[in-house]
Amino acid sequence: MPPGTGLRGRYCRQPVFVSDLRHFLDIPDDAPGPARKVAEHLASIVQSATAAKAGAPWETALPCRRRPGNQPCHGHIAVFRADLPAPIEWRCTVCGDEGVISGWEGSFFDLRQPRSQRVAATLVTEVPISYEVCATLRDLRLLDSDCELLVFRARAAGDGAVLSCSTEDLDELIGYVAAEANHETNRRLQKRLDLAFAVLSDLPDAMEP
Ligand SMILES: [Zn+2]
Repeated sequence: MPPGTGLRGRYCRQPVFVSDLRHFLDIPDDAPGPARKVAEHLASIVQSATAAKAGAPWETALPCRRRPGNQPCHGHIAVFRADLPAPIEWRCTVCGDEGVISGWEGSFFDLRQPRSQRVAATLVTEVPISYEVCATLRDLRLLDSDCELLVFRARAAGDGAVLSCSTEDLDELIGYVAAEANHETNRRLQKRLDLAFAVLSDLPDAMEP
């Protein structure tokens, strides 16, 4: 490849990943793992960006997927969504990996809804959780829309994530975690769910290694 110059040279080093979510929604089940992982990552970014208010950039609890030098990047994904429907901009806070996502409006992962305003009116509590527990919550299969909103609104706060939610929503979320833990047959996944349950319920087991 000839050496790049100007804009092209810049793009060769750090391409901005432009993606239309609609192109990722129909990925068949037998698609290669990496393609599905990209689709899941973009879907999570859309869920986070649409779970919080528009108009200000913020740092989600979503981990960066890149592995510069074969080491996992420890950054998190910051997102920005303008008030008017526009492409969602995202950027890793550490390695600078970035992109824009269009075609997300009205998709299954678009969590915008007027009900989110209701949360502001009720008593809000801040629950510090680890990134691992946060990932467990994102993987829950049967969340209702209020719980889905609070999980994807989780923001990065240094060494851990923070959930902002009403105590009612928190109780509801704990109920979902417990239900899924009770039905999970995979021991490893069940352990993750048990840990999440303990942390959210503030049980002493949460302190055990
Ligand atoms: Zn990164």
